[in-house]
Amino acid sequence: MTVDLLGAELEEMEAFCQSRGIPRYRARQMAEGIYRRNIGSWRELAVLPRATREMLAAQAPLPVPTVVDTRSTGDGTVKYLLQLADGQKVETVSLAYTYGTVACVSSQAGCRQGCVFCASHVGGCIRDLTAGEMLAQVQELRRRAPDGKIAGVVIMGTGEPMENYAATVRFLRLLQAPYGLEMSPRRITVSTCGIVPGILRLAEEGLPVTLAVSLHAATDELRSRLVPVNRRYPIRKLLEACAAYFQATGRRVTFEYVLLEGINDSPEEAKRLSAMLPVKWGHVNLIPVNPVAGRPFRTPSREKMGRFADILRRGGLGVTVRRSLGQTIGAACGQLRAHPFQEGN
Ligand code: SF4
Repeated sequence: MTVDLLGAELEEMEAFCQSRGIPRYRARQMAEGIYRRNIGSWRELAVLPRATREMLAAQAPLPVPTVVDTRSTGDGTVKYLLQLADGQKVETVSLAYTYGTVACVSSQAGCRQGCVFCASHVGGCIRDLTAGEMLAQVQELRRRAPDGKIAGVVIMGTGEPMENYAATVRFLRLLQAPYGLEMSPRRITVSTCGIVPGILRLAEEGLPVTLAVSLHAATDELRSRLVPVNRRYPIRKLLEACAAYFQATGRRVTFEYVLLEGINDSPEEAKRLSAMLPVKWGHVNLIPVNPVAGRPFRTPSREKMGRFADILRRGGLGVTVRRSLGQTIGAACGQLRAHPFQEGN
């Protein structure tokens, strides 16, 4: 039986080495090889004796996913369809910013949350991804990045990371570990539709990543229609959890708000939002809805979005209107899994 070491933390690699009679210090070399150097096979890790490399290749082969399709667009966004070891396919998106490549990572194959404007839950949740499978998405994009580097990671692909909590936290540790990718937590964002117990747990992990919460409405009545998890964790409870996150980490919370024409884009909704959100630690990210075939949602006009943003700003909130990267290839927020690759968009 083979062992999967992609996703293992240093102590686990040390235990593995001990069980195979390999000196403990080799574990760090192995971890640095697969995480920092991004090797695709143990045979590339020349620092190890040949016999150790051969043993690892036989007993702990590295599961590098296969890229089975790609779609790219003029704005530098590239969507990859990766096939995992069990044949399951997941989407990963590379976003080009002036400061470098950002990896948008999936945490589950599919999703069970059912947010109405999102396509990722259409086929349900097939399975959770392992930390190694999340990391493999980053490593694949690293291999293809012009400078071989990833400037940031957002867990905003398909899936709800708080529903796959243990693997998500392990992935976050590997991104930040000194033997791992040594990424600053400021460069990492975890996005949730509002799973309150997950937010409270993450606040205590000592991994002060940016928390992004999909809000999308200022009343429970509307939010429960758009984001069904609101029936379990209503807005008041959600904001309390976000406040606890800020208190524990000192990190400002981003509230994602997808603007849906005629549904949640009125000045009244903006005023309610402005009255409800904390100026001190809240930031609003307005996202024009991305069209998904078969869904009735339309993008508000630029003027309407501008007026909505102005009301929030007048209330003292920080606001960004997100540039919608990747819309033409179905790689934008809420579009993953909407269209099989072969259909394109
Ligand atoms: S928005 Fe996120 S949590 Fe909601 S259905 Fe889509 S992938 Fe799932």
